[in-house]
Amino acid sequence: MKRTGELDIAKEPPSNKDLFLGIDLGGTKIVAGLVDRGGRIVARQHRTTQARDGQDAVVRRLMDGTTHLLSAEGVDRAAVVAIGVATPGPIDARLGVVTAPPNLPGWRDVPLGRMIQDEFGLPTSLENDANAAAMGEHRFGVGCDAEHLIYVTASTGIGGGFILDGRLYRGATGAAAEVGHMTILPHGPLCGCGNRGCLEALASGTAIAREARERVARGVATLIAELAQGDSDGISAKMVAQAADLGDAEANEILDQAMIFLGVGMANLVNLFNPQLLVIGGGLTKMGPRLFDPVRRIVDRRAFPATASAVEIKRAQLGDDVGLLGAAAVAMTAIEDNRHE
Ligand SMILES: [Zn+2]
Repeated sequence: MKRTGELDIAKEPPSNKDLFLGIDLGGTKIVAGLVDRGGRIVARQHRTTQARDGQDAVVRRLMDGTTHLLSAEGVDRAAVVAIGVATPGPIDARLGVVTAPPNLPGWRDVPLGRMIQDEFGLPTSLENDANAAAMGEHRFGVGCDAEHLIYVTASTGIGGGFILDGRLYRGATGAAAEVGHMTILPHGPLCGCGNRGCLEALASGTAIAREARERVARGVATLIAELAQGDSDGISAKMVAQAADLGDAEANEILDQAMIFLGVGMANLVNLFNPQLLVIGGGLTKMGPRLFDPVRRIVDRRAFPATASAVEIKRAQLGDDVGLLGAAAVAMTAIEDNRHE
């Protein structure tokens, strides 16, 4: 990863004149980048978010980073057509308002779209990060040819975005695709949303770590305890995966159980939407076949045969750039839709 504040500009010229400015506003870092129509990142700029400083400081950092990017040598500001912003949800995409993001403490109904548009004089669109990622994978990544694509990110949380009939599906109020909060076990563990037994409470990295911590606290013999070196609060999903790779039975059981729940959730989505492509991204996909094999098996077993056989299940392709490329895809789509009058 680049150091904060470092500017990274590609040597070759963009594949055409038009550039789109993507801004990925995350809980830990803000990335602004210029992306051409082919999905090539021609320049980018990182800042740490330092979310604890509050809304005004974070917005200022976002504006400063973007200004720095646009005024850098070798950047043709006149070529920039529009701005897209991926933010931690929930947001009102139509009004460009960030409503109450859990990762950005103190933010409430911030008209970020309007603020950025006023600052840079370019049409600006906002989308929540999971929807933006779905649009990024659909436009530039593994989902290029798919008209019906379900994107799921499985990381510390679980989120998603639906591309149906070639378009992002937002629902009545823009809150669709909360994949992580479909109920899988009605009396299951408490979820961050207040509900019980959500997919996120059963199959996310946070859920895997929590289950491991509970077992270690019960005194169960497992390598996870050794990997944590006595710091049970520090137990992570990554440690569980490491222990599983080393043949630890408890770790394998924890992962097997989480992947069954993930598979059940994916089978539900496949039955509901009959997608041709299910794209799974996020940190948990680093486990590779440990995730994809059980998910495929469970989808085949639980979804209708015709829908199960119609769906390809693939790993997301854009990796760490998904936020930036997703934000650029949001800007491109908005221009194509002519949403800005
Ligand atoms: Zn939930």
